Amino acid sequence: TSPIRVGIVGYGNLGRGVEAAVAKNPDMQLTGIYTRRNPSQLQPLNVGTPVHAMDVLLSHKGQVDVLILCGGSKDDLPKQAPELAAHFNLIDSFDTHARIPEHFANVDSAAQGSQCTALISAGWDPGMFSINRVMGEALLPDGATYTFWGKGLSQGHSDAIRRVDGVAGGVQYTIPVEDAVNKVRSGVRPELSTREKHKRECHVVLKDGADAEAVRKTIVEMPHYFDQYDTTVSFITAEELARDHAAMPHGGFVIRSGNTSAENKQVIEYRLQLDSNPEFTSSVLVAYARAVHRMAQAGQHGCKTVFDVAPGMLSPKSAAELRAELL
Ligand code: NDP
Repeated sequence: TSPIRVGIVGYGNLGRGVEAAVAKNPDMQLTGIYTRRNPSQLQPLNVGTPVHAMDVLLSHKGQVDVLILCGGSKDDLPKQAPELAAHFNLIDSFDTHARIPEHFANVDSAAQGSQCTALISAGWDPGMFSINRVMGEALLPDGATYTFWGKGLSQGHSDAIRRVDGVAGGVQYTIPVEDAVNKVRSGVRPELSTREKHKRECHVVLKDGADAEAVRKTIVEMPHYFDQYDTTVSFITAEELARDHAAMPHGGFVIRSGNTSAENKQVIEYRLQLDSNPEFTSSVLVAYARAVHRMAQAGQHGCKTVFDVAPGMLSPKSAAELRAELL
């Protein structure tokens, strides 16, 4: 069978991750990258990967089986996903949890009209964590679900500290509170406040002459971002920031703790420990792109989420191979 032809829309962290992930899947082939910027200024990981301007994408309709949308959730995906679902099978990683129903409705109406298959909000959260929350609730209806994130770099919180007066640069790590994690793992089902679950650690480079204490106070008291957490601020040099904080680690765990009888506690845990958040997210997108292609071939059109995809559809192996090897 011929490889599944994949196109990348948007070439940032996720776009690069998808390029790397497709190379690890022999049943898939990258046909090109599509960007809103000048294609000649982009440097793909593989010099042979074609880079095109977005405005030629429609004319390549017959050359792509699935588009992997790698734009940002805030401004890019709400516009790009419905527009492109009117012409292509596609997948995105839309992660604004509160707006998922609205995004689904917009993409679904476009994909129903074009008889295409689109899958939104794949990745790890939403994505693999969502699946584990659903399974935990279904298997242990008498229970509680806990999601812990970290240790991980939070893009949104890092942006927030960089906007503080006197700050030249910085990063923010979200860290689960160990005591809370241990309580949850023990099966006692604690009720945990925001502050009890996660702490925030900031590493900040000051501008010349900035008042360190004033910067620290502005950060730890920042509404929504930091005021509900125990936050530590440490001051580092620009060299240290570049040397020690350039990677994008992340991860976390989903734990379902439940009782099947008065005496028996059951605890399920799914854990991710990621050196690179975008490379892992991209690997999930590529596996789900395979499923999107198969669902499109089977005539299952419209918008889907990870909840609608059977696990076997993610694998390059056939159903018979999976039964023989993994059951
Ligand atoms: P980036 O900011 O790196 O890229 C987003 C878009 O911005 C790109 O598609 C690209 O579009 C454009 N872009 C990238 N670099 C530049 C640049 N130097 N100058 C100008 N434009 C640029 O975002 P990420 O790839 O890190 O993340 C994308 C989204 O993925 C996030 O918004 C997040 O919502 C989601 N995500 C979801 C996860 C999940 O678990 N579901 C996990 C992690 C992320 P173009 O090439 O067209 O210019």
